[in-house]
This record gives sequence, structure tokens and C-alpha cells, in this order.
Amino acid sequence: MSHAVTLIPGDGVGPEITAASRRVIEATGVAIEWEEAVAGAAVFERGDTSGVPQETADSIARTGVALKGPLATPVGFGEKSANVTLRKLFETYANIRPARQIPGVPTRYDGEGVDFIVVRENIEDLYAGVEYMDSRDVAVALKIITRRGSEKVIRYAFELARREGRKKVTCATKANILKLSEGLFKSVFEEMAPEYPDIEPQHLIIDNVAHQMAKDPAQFDIIVTTNLAGDIISDLASGLVGGLGFAASGNYGDDAAIFEAVHGSAPKYAGKNVINPTALILSSVMMLRHLGEASAAQHIEDAVFVTLEEGEAVTLDVARQAGDVEQSTSTSGFADAIIENLGRAPATTYERKSQGPPATLPEPRPRWELRTVDGPDTQVIGVDIYTEMDGAPEPIGQALEAAAGPEFRLLLVSARGTKVYPTGSSSTDTVGWWRCRFVAAQEGATVTDAAILALLGRVGERMPWAHVQKLRMFGEDEGFTRAQGQ
Ligand code: NAP
Repeated sequence: MSHAVTLIPGDGVGPEITAASRRVIEATGVAIEWEEAVAGAAVFERGDTSGVPQETADSIARTGVALKGPLATPVGFGEKSANVTLRKLFETYANIRPARQIPGVPTRYDGEGVDFIVVRENIEDLYAGVEYMDSRDVAVALKIITRRGSEKVIRYAFELARREGRKKVTCATKANILKLSEGLFKSVFEEMAPEYPDIEPQHLIIDNVAHQMAKDPAQFDIIVTTNLAGDIISDLASGLVGGLGFAASGNYGDDAAIFEAVHGSAPKYAGKNVINPTALILSSVMMLRHLGEASAAQHIEDAVFVTLEEGEAVTLDVARQAGDVEQSTSTSGFADAIIENLGRAPATTYERKSQGPPATLPEPRPRWELRTVDGPDTQVIGVDIYTEMDGAPEPIGQALEAAAGPEFRLLLVSARGTKVYPTGSSSTDTVGWWRCRFVAAQEGATVTDAAILALLGRVGERMPWAHVQKLRMFGEDEGFTRAQGQ
């Protein structure tokens, strides 16, 4: 059976590593009809600000599988990442990044049994990319975490554990500080864990995960986490098992899966035929397993391990570590060596945490219900109005008290999350950007939209406002956090 796969060579070293991966895949005899497509820098340059032309999106929609080289993204300015756009276009909600000891690749943890997988939420969080300049000098990004988005990726992590015969899923969050957003992710994890009694659930604060990972990475099995944290700890994980040159990944959704190396376009090596293609070749192994070509996948994995283990062909990064740059092999030469080693098995095997067949995508099992914002137990009890004005907390607070009118009471003013009015610390640098929290004048009363609009008018007469957020109660639960020091 032939598989249709979209092939995106990408930017920088992308064309070299995708060509190497394609040759290795083809050498196994698996029949693939490649649909070449473009994305990234070349697309931005011709004026398409999405970085992903419609033909490319159409190809992935048709094939459902893409093998992708890295795509360059301008840092701190310019267009949005075409990588992130692709993940979002196809709702590839689970980014899977395995980290395990590879034969022939020396690490600080040799023989300790490092074999874990980071399951990173791939759509939401700060990667929603919703940012505003609330004033010329204040930037705000929305950290978006939803029950549905959390449930999809957490279910994926538990199903992955079950399919691979793994024993433990660690949920890594920053719920001690971000009690609502990261807290929601943690609650969904705790709600779902009892559905998987055969798997040990664990929650750790993400900073401790980083510490534990550096100290004793073998303790981890599967780690499920939010998007930005997952991005950072999966790069850390790569560093533990040989570096970015070896780190594979797959982005899995219900409609499509996109396979790519964790590393970027490494522009300084572009066109030099020296980069290590292992990361994308191992991503290709993940792709072949997803396509049901388990035997070809195993052949490639074994041949990569034999090549690394024997060390006769080594790319520049590995040769550098060994202090013998003269002996390095080109990217294409390294792919040739892997092809020659197809059919051989590595001499070194490490104990695996995975007891079962490698994972494919679990069947989608939607069980979530969308709950409308304003249900019967929802009550709007106040409003935060964000304003911008130079000055000290005292006069700002007094001006806001005067704007409150009969329906509202000014509860507090905070600056960058810290309460500064009616009382606060004189050390707080207020930066001229204020969160003004008004609640119903009558304790426990509901405030109406009309009252909020009238309040906005009165505040706006005194100082410019930037945005507004309703304060909701869901039954007994506060749908907002308190200010530091409140
Ligand atoms: P990078 O391209 O990953 O490269 C950083 C360094 O990692 C390289 O200079 C090199 O280290 C090492 N490295 C990367 N790939 C390697 C490989 N295959 N073999 C051996 N060493 C490798 O990161 P960056 O320079 O920060 O980002 C460059 C561009 O890539 C940016 O535009 C960024 O947005 C983009 N990016 C894309 C993706 C993606 O497509 N998914 C992911 C990350 C970044 P030495 O210098 O020590 O040799």
C-alpha cells in the first residue's frame, strides 16, 4: 500500500535533512507518494504573511501526514511562526517529544535508564499568541487554557502510557502561581486520572520538574504539560540525551499529524552539508509508525543506532564532542551509512520503560461538554477596568472613587498584579498602568452590563482605559484571582 505524505523541505538546513530522511525512508522499500510543498521564509518573502500557502494546507488536508523541515521565524518582530500556524491549522493538539538514551551517544546519564516522553499541549497557552500593547510601554499576552484543550492532550498522554505499557504520567504545571489557568490544567488531570487506574498519576510543579530532570531524569515516564513549559522542558530533555541533533517530535491531531525535528533551521550551517540529520530521521520513524509501517520504522531506528554505535560515520556535532573534527561525515554521507546499515540490529540495548508497541494516535473520545459562560449559577459581581495614567496611587484611587457612582464600590487598585490602593507598599513600581477593581456597591449584588457601560464612561472622563474584564462567580468559585496583597 502506498502512503501519500506532504514533504515540506523548509528553511536553512531543512532541505538537507529532509532529503536525507526521504532517501533513508525510500531505502526501506515503503511506498510513499511525496507531495512537495512550501512554507516559511520563501512564502513570507513573496508577501504571504501566513507563511503557509493554501496549496500547502490543501496538501496536508489531503494526505493527513506531513514530514517537515524547520521553518525560520523572525525573533521579536515580523510575521507569526509558520510552524505554529501549521500546528493550529490542523489542530495538532499533542506534541510528542521522546527523550531516551541512544546507543553510541554518550551522555551524563549513561546507563541510568533515561526513557521518557514529553507530551506538550500544542495549541493554547501563551502560544495562542494573543498579545496587546495596553499602552506604549505595557505589553500583555493572554495565557489561554481551556478545559477542552487540556482534556484532549491529557487523554492523549494517558492513552499513550497505556498503549506503550508505561506506568506513570506526571502532570507538570505552575498551578501554585497561576491558580486559574495552570490550575485548570491540573484539575482536569486529577479528574481524568481515575479513568486510568493502571497508571500512576503524579503532579509536580514545573520548576521542580526541571530540577528533577537534571538530577535524576530516569524517574520520569510520561510528562504532560502546557505549551510553553513543554517547549522549554523538552529542549532540556533533548540536552540530556545528546542534544538537538537527536531530538525527534511529532505533532498529532485528529485530522493530521506533522513530524519534524525539535531543532530549528540552524542557518549558519545551511547548504554546508554538515548538519546531523538524526533528529528528522528519528521523526520519520515516528511517522512510519503512525502510518502503520512498524517494521520499516524499526529497521530505520536500528540502522541509526548501529551507525551511531559503531561511530564510523559521525556528523560534525558528534565529531566535535569527540575532539576530532577532521573525521566528520557529511549529512548525505551519514544518510548513506544508515542506508548501508539497514537490516542490522544494534549491539547495545537499553532497558526500556515502554513495554508495549510504540504509540499511534489514540481514537478521539470526545466527552467534554461546552458550558456556556453565563449559566444559572453564574453571577457578575464586578469589573476590572485597566487604565493608563501617570501619577501616584493616592490621586488615581481618589479619581476612581469619584467615578464609582451609586452602583459600584472601588475595591482596590493594583499595578502589575500588586495592590497599591487604598493601601500598599511604597516600594511597588506602578509604571502608570492600573487595574481598577470595582464591585457592586451592595454586598453580593449582581452588576448589569448597563451599569458597567455607564461606569466605563465615568472612568473614561477621568483617565484613558485600555480594556475591561468582568468578574464572575461560578457558584461558590471565584472566576478571577485576587491581587497580591489583597
Ligand atoms: P536552532 O536552529 O535549533 O539551532 C541552534 C543550535 O543548535 C545550532 O546552532 C547548533 O548548535 C544546534 N543544532 C541545531 N540543529 C542541529 C542538528 N541537526 N545537528 C547538530 N546541531 C544542531 O535554533 P535557533 O538558531 O535558535 O533558531 C533558528 C531558526 O529556527 C529561528 O528562525 C527559529 O525561529 C527557527 N526554529 C524553528 C523550529 C521549527 O521549525 N520547529 C524550531 C526551533 C526554531 P551549534 O551552534 O553549537 O553547532
